[in-house]
Amino acid sequence: MTVREILLLGNPKLYEISKPAEKSELHKIKILIEDLHDTLMDFKAKFGAGRAIAAPQIGVMKRLIYMYTDKSFVFVNPSLDKLNPHMIEVWDDCMCFPDLLVKVNRHKTCTISYYDMDWEWKKMDLEDDLSELLQHEYDHLDGILAVSKAIDGKSFALRSQRELLNRSLGKGEKQ
Ligand SMILES: [Zn+2]
Repeated sequence: MTVREILLLGNPKLYEISKPAEKSELHKIKILIEDLHDTLMDFKAKFGAGRAIAAPQIGVMKRLIYMYTDKSFVFVNPSLDKLNPHMIEVWDDCMCFPDLLVKVNRHKTCTISYYDMDWEWKKMDLEDDLSELLQHEYDHLDGILAVSKAIDGKSFALRSQRELLNRSLGKGEKQ
């Protein structure tokens, strides 16, 4: 069990493009997934939020996303398609900047295709909160942060202001 250090906004590594994982690395990926799980659960215990994490957030530059909702999901070398032109506005948050909320637009629905831990190619249709969550995590693999996608200059808020924002927008944050 290893809780890894989460890279924070300002770390140049967060802007790097991650490399695809290889099938021959599966044994290493299994250990990495345990670390991602432990790191996510540690964050959740501290901040009361956190449903998914991308490998580059702990400095491992591999195209890999781990999600834990009611159970574990691993997305290896994912791709997003069927991006619905209908966009939804959300106050997004990120483990790389836990005190900050950023208002962004996300596709209401999309499909994620990926290798699972048996190296089988799978597809999952996503909508609403899962759709925006995995768009956020996928962006990490390309070195894109929510702050780069802010809708405008007024799209930044401190987490302490969340209640105020929820009242004005009727929206929660992502993770
Ligand atoms: Zn993030």
